[in-house]
Amino acid sequence: MAAASSCIACNGTADEKEEKRKCELIGYEALPEWLKDNEFIHGYYRCEWPMKETILSIFSIHNETLNVWSHLIGFLLFLCLTIVTAMVIPRNGSSSRSSGSSTAYQLGDLVEMAKANMTVALRHEALAACFLLPPSAAAASAALSEDGQQIPTSCPPNTSSSHHHAIQIQGSTGNTAATMDAAGTGTTAADPITRWPLFAYLGGAMVCLLTSSACHLILCHSERTAYVTLRLDYAGIAALIATSFYPLAYYSFLCDRALQRLYMGSITAMGAAAVTASLVPAFQAPQLRPLRAALFSCMGASGALPIAHKLLLYGGTAPGAVASAGYEALMGALYALGVAVYAARVPERWAPGRFDLVGHSHQLFHLFVIAGAYAHYLAGVEYLKWRDVDKC
Ligand SMILES: [Zn+2]
Repeated sequence: MAAASSCIACNGTADEKEEKRKCELIGYEALPEWLKDNEFIHGYYRCEWPMKETILSIFSIHNETLNVWSHLIGFLLFLCLTIVTAMVIPRNGSSSRSSGSSTAYQLGDLVEMAKANMTVALRHEALAACFLLPPSAAAASAALSEDGQQIPTSCPPNTSSSHHHAIQIQGSTGNTAATMDAAGTGTTAADPITRWPLFAYLGGAMVCLLTSSACHLILCHSERTAYVTLRLDYAGIAALIATSFYPLAYYSFLCDRALQRLYMGSITAMGAAAVTASLVPAFQAPQLRPLRAALFSCMGASGALPIAHKLLLYGGTAPGAVASAGYEALMGALYALGVAVYAARVPERWAPGRFDLVGHSHQLFHLFVIAGAYAHYLAGVEYLKWRDVDKC
């Protein structure tokens, strides 16, 4: 390939390799056709470097450095969010409101959360004793919180060993938790809504961000590597879009299993079709590009339907439905803005060569994607706050 012949910094003949071991950054004009993507970025390209040097280039400066790191840091951010979400146990102890959307969450304060969770666990043990032990033994049992405060263990009426089947004891999975009312008398047994739809979304986001980062790092190694990693990148995007629907469909239509199944089944089928379209070579024909673009666009745009449906059902009665829709609208706006910048290739179009290392459109696109994905996570938290309190 004529164009590729100039790309010999690391990939020339054996003699040339011996003479020229050092990998060099080259200009746009020297790239082979398969690496030419944006003519407004003039320099700092890696081209067909050996895999080891390609991977180690994560620590050097080139025009993909910030693209690699932005999504790698985004991946780590979502990993932290996953851990934080797994640690949060809702409490209604600080509020005496019997309904509404204001379950107390300690999101963002890990120390407070850990302490609170420990206290809840101790209280839970004390409450369990009311059901499992004879009344006299239960009254004698006491638990102390971390700061030495005594956890009230007075048993609610009608609790005895014969009623132990009436509560679910919290398992190691943390799926259920007993909580106390405002007076700490232990009469409320809250059962947090399942978290799996939100974890599915967090997983989809992490897969997307990690594959994207890897794609930007090693794509330049060879034409074959570019082909494989770009397919994986598309599949990651499809996974992100599909899993984004799970919290929306699951929590919004919690009280109508038929609707819930309809929406979740539809997006799962569309997601599977999009991942297949991304991976199967037959779908990669250039003439099918509009079909692929339409598939991704339809998937994203179809989110408007369940959001509108949710607002129709709960817009006037559930603040959580409105708050989550607000974050979902923010997410849509951020994604749309990102795609617009990506497609327009600004600002490098206005000053070609000026933004090669910092500030070109793809870097801005990555930031919009992370911001949009984070907005969607906040929508997920709103769903938990809503559905932990308001069940069917
Ligand atoms: Zn990218």
